[in-house]
Amino acid sequence: PAPVVAVVGRPNVGKSTLVNRIIGRRQAVVEDVPGVTRDRVAYDAQWNGRRFTIVDTGGWEPDAKDRAKAIAAQAEAAVATADVVLFVVDSRVGSTDVDEAAVRMLRRSAKPVLLVANKVDNATMEIESTSLWSLGLGQPYPVSALHGRGSGDLLDAVLEAM
Ligand code: GDP
Ligand code: MG
Repeated sequence: PAPVVAVVGRPNVGKSTLVNRIIGRRQAVVEDVPGVTRDRVAYDAQWNGRRFTIVDTGGWEPDAKDRAKAIAAQAEAAVATADVVLFVVDSRVGSTDVDEAAVRMLRRSAKPVLLVANKVDNATMEIESTSLWSLGLGQPYPVSALHGRGSGDLLDAVLEAM
């Protein structure tokens, strides 16, 4: 079976936009409103001739009492079946307490995790995205899922991690 790449992160950070960028179709549902509950959805993808399955996630419960717990549980289910995890953050927001809780879970999973700093739409924002090193996941990959900026470098790294 093809390796599985799971895309996790808080609502509205651009996970589905990134998945569409990677599969080259507008199939994953992009929402302007955060917190829409959605199941995990798998798509066939390829880069440089290598096939993989990419799993978009949502499913965040906006009414959960403990946001950190809810996002961690959602992420955990997708991560469990993944060979590589893309942890997406919104570079305009930076890291939040919810992001930090998710990172703790990702560390316990012992899966390879690439930190994706999304919404880096220009070069100035690329420099600012380096602050995300503080999440402890190593080098942030700055991308603009919307415009495609940085997605080739990210996919090269995904193949190396598979
Ligand atoms: P998800 O909830 O994490 O799946 O996020 P979505 O993919 O649904 O995107 C949420 C919002 O962020 C939408 O309005 C997207 O158009 C916007 N968005 C996603 N990626 C980018 C990006 O690279 N740059 C900018 N400026 N907006 C983005
Ligand atoms: Mg989504």
